[in-house]
Amino acid sequence: MIRVGVNGYGTIGKRVADAVRLQPDMQLTGVAKTRPNYEAATALQNGYALYSAIPERSHLFAEAGMELAGDVDDLVRASDVIVDATPSGVGAENADRYRAHDTPAILQGGESADCVDASFVAGVNYDEAAGADLLRVVSCNTTGLSRLLDPLDREYGIEKVRVTLVRRGGDPGQTDRGPINDILPDPVTVPSHHGPDVNTILPEVDIDTVGLTVPATLMHVHSVNVTLDTAPTRSALADLFGRQSRIFLVDETLDIDGTADLKEFAADSGRPRGDLWENCLWQESIAVEGTDLYLMQSIHQEADVVPENIDAIRALGGERTADESMALTNEYLGVGM
Ligand code: NAD
Repeated sequence: MIRVGVNGYGTIGKRVADAVRLQPDMQLTGVAKTRPNYEAATALQNGYALYSAIPERSHLFAEAGMELAGDVDDLVRASDVIVDATPSGVGAENADRYRAHDTPAILQGGESADCVDASFVAGVNYDEAAGADLLRVVSCNTTGLSRLLDPLDREYGIEKVRVTLVRRGGDPGQTDRGPINDILPDPVTVPSHHGPDVNTILPEVDIDTVGLTVPATLMHVHSVNVTLDTAPTRSALADLFGRQSRIFLVDETLDIDGTADLKEFAADSGRPRGDLWENCLWQESIAVEGTDLYLMQSIHQEADVVPENIDAIRALGGERTADESMALTNEYLGVGM
């Protein structure tokens, strides 16, 4: 059993904690919270041991009637691996704490690639994670692009990638984010940082990215153009994407016309929180002009990194192969539409 602690129990952390609990070879040691809010209350309802992320604030939990199992150092001591899902920049600050305990940790995409030993997407570079002290599961967008581009590069060779990322303004619970009535070039400078981040996973791929942010909360949408070394057919592409366990090829027969329907489909299918762990690739959007491929995919920003975090936990130990780990994660989480 791999004992896993989760430090930072927000959008990503609570999903990772739930996913860890489902794995047959993992035990959730507990979750660390900075304050006794509704998420701390539901962690306790779920039976998760609750730890204080900031020891000086531990008394607040007692005052709110919430029982603590200890503070964050106790959580690290009790764990073989820590998943740090704190806000951008905090993970890097926490790294010294994990080093002091000699406990490997997995940071998230908000952290810089420079502060970790390796960046990670399970289907692409699983083997590079073995023995790392600090690993980074890359952002939702980088995860989605890497999952898409790696099989294309292996099958046809990639000459050039151009992506426009239409980004959600904030997650559904983020009432302080926006815009609420605008379309922002974000960043206004070209290229955006997403391309270089993809290169932390696929260093050889020539990629330029452009970003916009829109008043939406449900998912991101990527408009992708790839110039390949050899010309594919539409049906061969559909076959290739259909074989990827973390790509959901959205078939026209489902009559799903946008991200709202996708989320509704996930909720109706019984997915926890309506989560979509797969890239949602619009099959009808696949178009080929010689060696030029065009397509669109939607990425559920709150969810696609969750199976990657589970595989990252196993990859650190180096005891299972990528295929074994991904198969276990897919089976016990329920990945695959
Ligand atoms: P979030 O704000 O929803 O959750 C972060 C949690 O960490 C909050 O509960 C916060 O109270 C807590 N926290 C703050 N300081 C802490 C500390 N010192 N110790 C312990 N906990 C602390 O953030 P999120 O969206 O879950 O993002 C977490 C990380 O995941 C970031 O690096 C982010 O870039 C990355 N990420 C986010 C998304 C997304 O769309 N939400 C997608 C992929 C990756």
